[in-house]
Amino acid sequence: MIKTGQKILLIISAVAIIVLLLIFRTGKAPLVRADSANVVVMNTIAKIIAVAPDEQTAQNAIEAAIKKIKHLENLFNRYDPNSQLSLVNRQADKEPVKIDKELFVILQRSIYYSKLTDGAFDITVGPLVDLWKKCAEANSMPTDEPLAQVKKRIGYDKILLDANQFTVRFAAEAMSLDLGAIAKGFVADRAIEEMKKAGALGGLVDLGGQIGCFGLTEKNGKWVIGVQNPSKLEAGQTILKLALSDSAAATSGDYRRHYKIGNKQFSHIFNPATEKSADTLSSVTIITSSGTAADALATAVSVMGAERGIELIEKLPNTEAIIIKSGNEEMLETSKAERFILR
Ligand code: ADP
Ligand code: MG
Repeated sequence: MIKTGQKILLIISAVAIIVLLLIFRTGKAPLVRADSANVVVMNTIAKIIAVAPDEQTAQNAIEAAIKKIKHLENLFNRYDPNSQLSLVNRQADKEPVKIDKELFVILQRSIYYSKLTDGAFDITVGPLVDLWKKCAEANSMPTDEPLAQVKKRIGYDKILLDANQFTVRFAAEAMSLDLGAIAKGFVADRAIEEMKKAGALGGLVDLGGQIGCFGLTEKNGKWVIGVQNPSKLEAGQTILKLALSDSAAATSGDYRRHYKIGNKQFSHIFNPATEKSADTLSSVTIITSSGTAADALATAVSVMGAERGIELIEKLPNTEAIIIKSGNEEMLETSKAERFILR
């Protein structure tokens, strides 16, 4: 039995501890938030937010993120003849090309997502993208002959990686790797790593709608992001809001970038198997922990369609999809997507 005196002593010490804890918490310096200006990179507009104990650390984190994004853009952009990817696209059908670790890793991840999606995601679509672009410029549909030629140059199994030498080699001639469907996600992940290294406690990287966030906001809250309404793009209206922490969200859609031939509009996402553009879904949002995964899977689900797409995402741990169908704008979601949606 505890004596009354001891009891009182215990209560007094407990209260003292609580009071001390409260003083400690409220006495804590508030966190600082810094927002970057709009930065034009990767053919889009990037915005970065850093939360840190002080202004200088927040600014340093933003700077580190932008530096990383620019560095990777210079490696991954196939439209820049000086990029390392362009060198690969020119040379790898003739000899193995030695590449930087970051390019090697994104190629490995790309092949991983090709296998996972049964080839719906495939970075060897470069020649197909080029053919459709040329046809759109000439305002005529692609014909069978060039499509058959392009087919020989497509297929992720034709990318040969050597992890000991860090080289890439192509198994067919005139192939062209296009990282457009995975680069922003991968780059956002790496930018976040840099921000953490620079001392940021929280932050958000927005690469033209490809979002990655970590930690909490300066007000200790989740990061709230908007997903655009595909049919009300001009008005910039959001169709839903998501509350995220330590997650990435990628949206693929036919509404932002597309081709026009005659008066028909075609998505910039292609089904590598049929060589046709993927037009059944007007928007696919994937939420998961990795930006690389979110980006690749958003593109893959656009190709796979609602039914197969949802079936795949349901099987993946901690990965959710929100889909808006073309035409009737019906919204479909995976079973646990709801917990991210702000109503
Ligand atoms: P966004 O560019 O709007 O972020 P995506 O992430 O879906 O959209 O990437 C689309 C781009 O990826 C296309 O412009 C093209 O360069 C490339 N691409 C098209 N179809 C595929 C595909 N099936 N697999 C991989 N990349 C693709
Ligand atoms: Mg993508």
